[in-house]
Amino acid sequence: MRIIRTTLLLSFLFMLVLGCSKPQTPEVKNFSKPHTLRPFSMNESVTPDLAGGKESHVRKPEPLTLAELRAKYSSTFLLHGPPAPKRIALTFDDVPDDYFTPLILDTLKQLHVKATFFVVGNRAESHPDIVRRMINEGHIIGNHSYSHANLPKIVDSAFRDEVLRTEDIIKKITGKTMLFIRPPYGNVSEDQIKWIASKHMKIINWNVDSLDWKGLSADQVKANIMSNISSGAIVLQHGAGGVGEDLTGTIEALPSMVAELRAQNIELVTIPELLHKPAYR
Ligand SMILES: [Zn+2]
Repeated sequence: MRIIRTTLLLSFLFMLVLGCSKPQTPEVKNFSKPHTLRPFSMNESVTPDLAGGKESHVRKPEPLTLAELRAKYSSTFLLHGPPAPKRIALTFDDVPDDYFTPLILDTLKQLHVKATFFVVGNRAESHPDIVRRMINEGHIIGNHSYSHANLPKIVDSAFRDEVLRTEDIIKKITGKTMLFIRPPYGNVSEDQIKWIASKHMKIINWNVDSLDWKGLSADQVKANIMSNISSGAIVLQHGAGGVGEDLTGTIEALPSMVAELRAQNIELVTIPELLHKPAYR
């Protein structure tokens, strides 16, 4: 029994040694050999071209993300000001309407706060008196497009029209040519940034979002702002509603929020003050 077991073990070991020392097959050797190619030339009459165009033409590289665009165009595309001195800027978008905007202006007046309003051109056309009131009360205005279009989704000519038409309307109402623009939804393409830069305008987005467009309570609006605030912050709020939008929380949050910021020795300033840049041409 013992002899049989030993013989079997020895045969197994012998086979194993044979297997390991087996020479490599010629196919494996050939595989590592470099192929010799004919010189590059395409006979187009034999190989039909791609009907939809070359891959490199049709499959354009993915556009940069907003974060990458901000980094690439940091002198044109801004989200906040310098961290010192201790200052922040309140901004109100989508203005004017004839209900919420006057209430916000009343509240800011009582609090002695100057803010920055981003106006929608077609709303400014409907309420020019409220735009004039903003300027007369020391606030700053910037361009928020003519119809609140999602700019990267529209063609070049329509994009320029959105900006220039609003510029003309505001020039007629106030005599001023705005140098700040906030793209609706914060969305803008690389080509649009280049065009805005060529006009010496600045894109002003934000780094603190109140999310007030969700119809939040005053406490929720205030918590969203105060929990994210830091010196140099640009705060996004809304100063006019669309159909069914309620900005009561935005207005009611202002007095206690401003008091709290001032208790922390944080000054409330406009965008041109925060950034040390001119607001108008
Ligand atoms: Zn907007």
